[in-house]
Parts: sequence; structure tokens; C-alpha cells
Amino acid sequence: MYFLNHEEQRYLMRRLLPQARANEVHPELRGWSWHQPPLLPVYEPCLALYEIAGQYCPTGRDVFLRRVLGHRPAPNAAMIAGRVLHQVVADLVLATKHAIYASGTAGCVAALLALIGPNGALSDLDGLDADQRAVLRDQAQSLWAFEQRRVVARVEDVLSRQPHIGADSLAALALPVTVESRLDGRFLGLSSHLSADAFNFAEPMMVDLKFGSPQPFHRLSTTGYALVMESLYEVPVNVGCIVYVRFRDGQVLIERDFHHLSDELRQEFIEARDERAQMVEEEIDPGAPAECPPASEGHGVCHYWAYCHGA
Ligand code: SF4
Repeated sequence: MYFLNHEEQRYLMRRLLPQARANEVHPELRGWSWHQPPLLPVYEPCLALYEIAGQYCPTGRDVFLRRVLGHRPAPNAAMIAGRVLHQVVADLVLATKHAIYASGTAGCVAALLALIGPNGALSDLDGLDADQRAVLRDQAQSLWAFEQRRVVARVEDVLSRQPHIGADSLAALALPVTVESRLDGRFLGLSSHLSADAFNFAEPMMVDLKFGSPQPFHRLSTTGYALVMESLYEVPVNVGCIVYVRFRDGQVLIERDFHHLSDELRQEFIEARDERAQMVEEEIDPGAPAECPPASEGHGVCHYWAYCHGA
């Protein structure tokens, strides 16, 4: 999921990064400028990043219902599947690193080939019916097997070029990624317990996994996490990547949306943050949109549907 092929690396190096250098981000829109407008938080509520960037409800009424009225309906099937599949990928990365450190460079390939999964991620499937569980188990198995083959190939590739490498260096070169990074977003008026899908420190790039259909607001997630990284570590993060994963006949299909984390995206994120934080602080019900997103977009029926539509 998180590792680029040769063509993608060339695209990143020769197109996107030069573009980012040519269109330098305005200093006021770097995360380390959190102490002054426009990044300085105006309102008190510290929202989770998904409450700002997850704009599946066009008016943001889901945030009002959860934060102001305290409604927390059970997640729908698409949300459960997304959680499980994210967990599968994270578990595989962690299991791979663990195998490298535990078995050493000599024994790690055998240990990686012997990894059996996914198990933990599938332990809690409450809320799904039998058919949904069967489909999700198949998808999780396909995803695990797909990623396992790829990490084994990456580890073998590094070992073939660096036969005297140590375990720590092997893990860093073969898996240059931290998954489920815990980030404190308080400088930017966000939750202190944010969790980013992945940060690829070889490129460097903020990466977000999606198992539903592409949406224009998805880039706000990578933008928000990049701003938080900049606010914490004071290093620029210029590139984001949304990885869209689909399944067809047992095969894993991947599309990557690389993007420059531009001034426009940063402004859009900050405006959404302020708008939603104001809605919560001043308890403003934005009402339902003229039309709620259809389930056909791959995200299932909104889990607030019964509340908003009385059915
Ligand atoms: S049912 Fe419609 S209005 Fe209500 S939260 Fe969902 S998308 Fe928004």
C-alpha cells in the first residue's frame, strides 16, 4: 500500500517534488505558524481530523449531532470494513518489523513467509451479517497475502544488495514507513489523539488509505495531517498521497492520488476547521443538505440516516 513502484517514484521525483519547490507554500500556511492567523485556532472545540476532513455529510450535520447532541449511532458496514482493512495493513507492517528484529537478517525471510494472518483485525465483526462477514474475510485475506508478498520482495531486495546489513537498517530500508502515527494536534486546535494512517519517511509523504470511492475532500486528510506534522516537528511536508484500494475477483487493485499540499488545500482545511469548530461551539444545527449522499458511492447509507430522516 505504502510503497511506490519505479514509475511512481520517478513521477514523484521528477514532477511532483519539482512542482512543489516551484510553488513554495506561503510561510503563514506552514504548520509551524500555528501561533498566528490564519492557523491560530479561533474556537475552543478540538475536533478529530476526520470530523473536519470527512465531509461525507455535505453540511457537516454529523459533527453537530455527535458533538452537540451526543448522538453516536453504531457504525455502518462500510465503516466497519474500512476499520478492519486498515487494521490488516497496519498489522502486517508491524508483524514484518517484528519478524526482522526477532529473527535477525539471516532468518527474517523465512519468518516473513511463515506469517499467518490476518487474525486480530477480524476478531470483532459485530454489526455485520453473515454475508458481509464472509466478503470482508475474503478481502482481508487477499489484502494480507498481497502485502505479505510485497514486503518479502522488498526485504529480499535489500538483503541482496546489502548482505551485511543489520536488522534495524533493514527494517528502515525495506519498510520506510510508520503506521498509525499518533499525533498531538492541539497547536492547530485539533484533538491531541490524532492517528495518521502512515508517514513515508523515504519520500517523505503523508499517506492515507481509502477503501471507498474517491471524493474531492479526501485530500483534506493528508493536508490536515501534514499541517500537524509541521506544527510538531517544524519540517515541511509537501506531498500527500491517497491510496485507493479495491477488490475484484480476489485481486487487489490500487490507485494512488499524489498531490501537492498547496496553499489552496491548506486554506480549505483551515476554513473547514474554523467553520465546524464554530458550529460546535455555538451549537448551530446546519440542517440536512438538499440531498444526502447515496449509498451507491461506496460508503453505505449514512449512519445518522434514521435520526435525520426518521426511518
Ligand atoms: S443523514 Fe444526511 S444530513 Fe444526516 S448526517 Fe447523514 S448525510 Fe448528514
